[in-house]
Amino acid sequence: MIRRIGKRGALTLPKALRVDAGLHPGMAVEVTAGNGGMEIKAAHKCCYFCGSPEDVYSVMNVNVCRACAKKLSEVIG
Ligand SMILES: [Zn+2]
Repeated sequence: MIRRIGKRGALTLPKALRVDAGLHPGMAVEVTAGNGGMEIKAAHKCCYFCGSPEDVYSVMNVNVCRACAKKLSEVIG
């Protein structure tokens, strides 16, 4: 798949690749360069729902931040 980098350096990641890689909109990612290319990985322990790397806990193998956990508890009751 060939993509073009925008004038300001932006690159849209195709949805199919994002889904395969487990990367979601708003998620914090770690970008590294080397070997003539770049690697994009989910930042260590960021919230599955909002992508925040702040105040994140692992609950049943899902990383969730305190704010999203609070919203979930309000919805579920
Ligand atoms: Zn969150």
